[in-house]
Amino acid sequence: MGIRKDRFGKTIEGTAVDIYTLTNAQGMEVKITNYGATIVSLKVPSRHGEPVDVTLGYDSLEEYLRGSYYFGCIVGRYANRIAGGKFALQGKEYTLVKNEGNNHLHGGIRGFDKVLWQSEKPVTGAVPGLILKYFSRQGEEGYPGSLSVAVTYNLTDENELKIDYEAQTDQPTVINLTHHSYFNLAGAGSGDILDHILTILADQFTPVDNRLIPMGELRSVRGTPMDFIQPTVIGARIEQDDEQLILGNGYDHNWVLNKEEGALALTARVFEPHSGRTMEVHTTEPGIQFYSGNFLGDQIKGKGNQIYHRRGGFCLETQHYPDAPNQPQFPSTVLEPGEKYKQTTIYHFSIAS
Ligand code: BGC
Repeated sequence: MGIRKDRFGKTIEGTAVDIYTLTNAQGMEVKITNYGATIVSLKVPSRHGEPVDVTLGYDSLEEYLRGSYYFGCIVGRYANRIAGGKFALQGKEYTLVKNEGNNHLHGGIRGFDKVLWQSEKPVTGAVPGLILKYFSRQGEEGYPGSLSVAVTYNLTDENELKIDYEAQTDQPTVINLTHHSYFNLAGAGSGDILDHILTILADQFTPVDNRLIPMGELRSVRGTPMDFIQPTVIGARIEQDDEQLILGNGYDHNWVLNKEEGALALTARVFEPHSGRTMEVHTTEPGIQFYSGNFLGDQIKGKGNQIYHRRGGFCLETQHYPDAPNQPQFPSTVLEPGEKYKQTTIYHFSIAS
């Protein structure tokens, strides 16, 4: 029950980088570095005893500095893709950095995952909390407006990892923040996640084209491999001859959550049958990207010299819809001066009996 600060390493420029350890009364532990506001490890108890690390990542800062998979980080200023790396806002066109073919992905070449965040004095006591702040200057990666961002990580005694996001701008801009942990509830490095059982409370998803950009339509999941309304094994349909699965290389899509706009609600649940570990995702966001780790290389050396393979982890990224700045029918991602951007996501862990 507390929070400890240690040194993680130094950036190439020689700046010290820290790592914080938050623990709760149930034996859960999360390690977070201020480089990319990244979760480095997340230890969760199982019905067999010892807590197990359920997130993919690296042992050293050097590996994070070289890494390209967005392991555990906060993604911003705009998570997911913006088509053509451009958008218009109030009659002006903005050109962003393109870092995935012709797309802008996850905030660009140096997104919020690759910058140093400043930590505030950590909150100790029953619910240890870590506040990380970042100031994104006007023009960074092409975005208009300077943006002040604060992310608070809390670990509760109910085994909830709670992430609160806040931001303010001095000019109209677009924003879409998310968290990018790759989870494997059997333990990071223990194999693929295809036998995990997933529920997503969504009747619709946003189908994509061959650039992984939504086509604008909200399509029913009924009768398709995208239907996770009932608990379903992730691997059950992933290799089906389905146009959307082929385009995504597996699951890499945004689900349109069945929930009241802005309300904090349960949206997804994942159950790992061998350990009994369960993770529920609650969010205020209207969408969730379920990504089945399709682009993970087959020989990534992760923590403790373990080798990660394709589909060795999954992400559930709570978000606004991809490419919303170019698709006015989607919930707006515009932030105006004087407004406050807020989103809350909770990853709640438990053991099924
Ligand atoms: C995207 C994937 C992308 C991955 C990068 C996910 O959020 O949906 O398409 O390859 O991030 O690690």
